[in-house]
Amino acid sequence: MQAHNLGFPRIGAQRELKFALERYWRGEIDREALEAEGRSLRAAHWKRQQAAGLDRIPVGDFSFYDQVLDHSAMFGVVPERFGWDGGEVDLDLYFRMARGRAPSGAPAAACEMTKWFDTNYHYLVPEVVRGQRFALSSRRLFDEVAEAAALGIPFKPVLIGPLTWLWLAKTRGEPFDRLELLDDLLAVYSEVLDELARLGAEWVQIDEPALVLDLPPAWKQAYESAYHRLQSAPVELMLTTYFGALEDNLGLALSLPTAGIHIDLVRAPGQLEAVLDRLPPYKQLSLGLVDGRNVWRTDLDAALGVLEVAAGRIGAERLWVGPSCSLLHVPVDLAPEQALDEELRSWLAFAVQKLDEVVLLRRALVEGREAVAEALEAARAALASRRNSPRIHRPEVAERLDGIDETMLSRRHPYPERRPLQRARLDLPLFPTTTIGSFPQTAEIRQARRDFLEGRLAEADYRARMHEEIAHVVRKQEECGLDMLVHGEPERNDMVEYFGERLEGFAITRFGWVQSYGSRCVKPPIIFGDVARPGPMTVDWIRYAQSLTERPVKGMLTGPVTMLNWSFVRDDQPRARTCAQIALALRDEVLDLEAAGIKAIQIDEAALREGLPLRRAEWKEYLDWAVRAFRLTASGVRDETQIHTHMCYSEFNDIIESIAEMDADVITIETSRSHMELLDAFVDFEYPNEIGPGVYDIHSPNVPTVDEMVALMQLAAERIPAERLWVNPDCGLKTRGWAEVEPALRNLVEAARRLRAEFALSRAGGV
Ligand code: GLN
Ligand code: ZN
Repeated sequence: MQAHNLGFPRIGAQRELKFALERYWRGEIDREALEAEGRSLRAAHWKRQQAAGLDRIPVGDFSFYDQVLDHSAMFGVVPERFGWDGGEVDLDLYFRMARGRAPSGAPAAACEMTKWFDTNYHYLVPEVVRGQRFALSSRRLFDEVAEAAALGIPFKPVLIGPLTWLWLAKTRGEPFDRLELLDDLLAVYSEVLDELARLGAEWVQIDEPALVLDLPPAWKQAYESAYHRLQSAPVELMLTTYFGALEDNLGLALSLPTAGIHIDLVRAPGQLEAVLDRLPPYKQLSLGLVDGRNVWRTDLDAALGVLEVAAGRIGAERLWVGPSCSLLHVPVDLAPEQALDEELRSWLAFAVQKLDEVVLLRRALVEGREAVAEALEAARAALASRRNSPRIHRPEVAERLDGIDETMLSRRHPYPERRPLQRARLDLPLFPTTTIGSFPQTAEIRQARRDFLEGRLAEADYRARMHEEIAHVVRKQEECGLDMLVHGEPERNDMVEYFGERLEGFAITRFGWVQSYGSRCVKPPIIFGDVARPGPMTVDWIRYAQSLTERPVKGMLTGPVTMLNWSFVRDDQPRARTCAQIALALRDEVLDLEAAGIKAIQIDEAALREGLPLRRAEWKEYLDWAVRAFRLTASGVRDETQIHTHMCYSEFNDIIESIAEMDADVITIETSRSHMELLDAFVDFEYPNEIGPGVYDIHSPNVPTVDEMVALMQLAAERIPAERLWVNPDCGLKTRGWAEVEPALRNLVEAARRLRAEFALSRAGGV
């Protein structure tokens, strides 16, 4: 039996890769220095895995930006706008594709980025055109394999499979069926596999997570023909599936002529039986038993039980054991987290600890449980302490949860009755203007937060600094002429972490970084126990902001679903239950804000849509509890208190009914780049409440003109009655500078004024 890994975090325990990349992009180090940093990180990661005792170590999991983009570069799939001449895709071309610019070469629009399956990792979407050519155009993977071989690493190259890569690709120009490209694509895959064999690879891990999705019949057929074609490659293929159950693709996946198959038994433990029943006798089976998506220590007894069953059925010689998926999605190492208490730490395993678990499982199976008795006992003790800890199980939270009744899930009256009360109280004009919450987070603000955190700034001084900033933001908004103001969120490092730090049941790590995209990392909080709110989290700041102005200031909270989706979530109770606990805590915050005289409260649900399960059959259940959690958060307020929500995306077609069921009085969304087309979902469905379709694209440094914004709102007004429209940017302004934000907001207010005049006129004159 073999112990293997599917992928190791590439960013480095101290985020070395992030810092090297950013230095390179700023021109502070040269290409050779960046390459050297890459080599040294790879070597360190391989050696660490070798020292852990793994039999096969992934190579090709490293990337200077993104593994999907690496494949596009390897295949020579470079969009025309980058002016590529067909040679080797070099590092700067690669970075231009990733981020639009690089130290050399002309800037061009970067490739689109989107989430990798249901993770919070973003990949760069391959762009293919009709008649797309493929040619081996990067030797990076081969160089890395040679590097690993030279270091004596028992390497296993990792590739994204042809169907998954093609599935993730988008067509540009004339529409066509991308399966037309499969044959030519496979020719390159054959070349790659030949070269890997020549470099001494025995096994190649070929990732096909698309096999856990709902696939159209043509794609299922394409899997068959593709893998029959790759069958002749002079290497053994480990067809690797993860993030879910194979379900209707199970027979297909098992029948493909690959020497092995990997299945995810963390997300889909139930599929083992069927796989064992139908596994062809020639095939090796890799069991993903250590969670690659979460931070909990493995229940080794249970995992071992599964391995023993499998070994009993097919023999240990045909078995591999590994993490469920690449460890890219978990932080690197628990060891430096000395600020977490020992008990909590004993419940956790990051990438390095997970490797030990994988190797331990192999030893226990091969040498017997006695050989690792001590380690098993330690794991058992940690598990028992987690099961029984009073820090995790709070009877008062359970009681409150059980006490939720339907009246807590609805506002007192429906929107049409709430509307006049809110309008009267808020005194808003037609086309009211507002922003999404954050204002530019300047270097000084970040420094002040750091100084406070690290004890260099006393609490009173810190508050004074933040008050100064809030006053500045309020004054600026008044000067620009906005109707509904915000406090600007200067006190927030991150919209989830800020609340995680203030809620019980959440732990914040110091170094628990996970790559989000390129050099960007996030540090998700860990929800380990029942969630409770020791006291108000935002009220003082908002109350202060409101004390400075006559205009209404919006309270600003991150919603329960977003908090859940952007955290590591406990695995000992359903996600829905954890979400409801967060909702109850936030409900109290909403009520405290209302009691403090705040007339409008925004509950951001930036991540509601991205939490959709991979399989459509599971959508309804998710949407039901997600909407319920939002309603639980929002519904305690009086009719005249206006509830806003914000979602920074645009594809609502599939979920518009659920969005309406959230029953927010106002929803602000991202629309500026799609020319209001996405509003069509709201029209077809006759969305009943108010909408602020973003007219200022905050992802770009450009200042939108009054005309542009008026034109966008006119398009919106063709679809939604003007009485229900708001004028606002499409997301928070924290990543922008004041030099852009101020003129953009002045233009935005001017656009609203023009619209008011125009619509008042059209009404009076019946135009
Ligand atoms: N209120 C948050 C902000 O303005 C919303 C951020 C988001 O949607 N991602 O920054
Ligand atoms: Zn947003």
